[in-house]
Amino acid sequence: MEIKRVGIIGAGQMGNGIAHVFALAGYDILLNDVSKEALEAAPGIIADNMDRQVARGKITEEERDRAIGRIELAPEIASLGPTDLIVEAATEREELKHKIFASIQPYLADHTILTSNTSSISITRLASGTDRPERFMGLHFMNPVPIMQLVELIRGIATDEPTYNVMTGVVTRIGKTYSSAEDFPAFIVNRILVPMINEAVYTLYEGVGTVASIDTSMKLGANHPMGPLELGDFIGLDTCLAIMNVLHEGLADTKYRPCPLLVKYVEAGWLGRKTQRGFYDYRSGTPVPTR
Ligand code: NAD
Repeated sequence: MEIKRVGIIGAGQMGNGIAHVFALAGYDILLNDVSKEALEAAPGIIADNMDRQVARGKITEEERDRAIGRIELAPEIASLGPTDLIVEAATEREELKHKIFASIQPYLADHTILTSNTSSISITRLASGTDRPERFMGLHFMNPVPIMQLVELIRGIATDEPTYNVMTGVVTRIGKTYSSAEDFPAFIVNRILVPMINEAVYTLYEGVGTVASIDTSMKLGANHPMGPLELGDFIGLDTCLAIMNVLHEGLADTKYRPCPLLVKYVEAGWLGRKTQRGFYDYRSGTPVPTR
């Protein structure tokens, strides 16, 4: 089966990035969002990101223009139904994702493959609410999508082999590399990465190091490009906490308990870069450690 037209649900930071890489690979895109503002802002954001790739010599101006021409805005979710592939990249709330799949179901073509970009929700549970669990998969991109090389492919318990094979072909065509993960909480990357960030917060909480010494230690001592606290601020501390909660509840192991200091930062609304304050204060333009 050949995928030609792709419907993307959610035009936030991930949906825009996904539309960007699919359009550059030659797929025709229908991009949907419930928020009129998000949808209207999407083409400008995608064009700016592509302009940066043109400036760096990664793509030509013609490639950019052709790709932008392939992205059509679709305020009505029903119009995405006849596409070959749906990529759901809406807000990370399970009831919302179930509702989205239920609302598009009556309009789907028989062959349409459904995927979700969820970071942590069970693919098997999302698939079981649809009429096609065998043609449902997790397609987990990393942020920022145009830059990060990996896509995790997650099979639900019912996903069939032809669907998996079509999706490995799609990931290869968009120039990414896939890794296959089983459908367990937070899959592979976040299962390993987010507990490391949580452990860095414990290291801070217990006074073993300061924000600066912890980040310097991991950058120079483990060759990580970013320190774990800086990385937590980049991902969003609310997202890190949500993933720790999914691991803690889903795997029922106390080793995944979220650090109380991480909870406190989230309660304070200090969520990292997106709110200008987290383990660093970004308000002056130069990040200043908050502890
Ligand atoms: P975001 O908040 O930037 O965007 C979410 C978008 O979904 C918003 O524009 C919102 O208006 C839209 N939306 C909400 N309800 C909708 C509906 N019913 N129909 C259509 N659109 C709807 O969030 P994001 O960071 O782009 O995350 C989206 C998904 O990608 C989540 O499942 C998240 O877990 C996953 N993800 C995020 C990251 C990351 O680092 N941000 C990485 C990998 C995966």
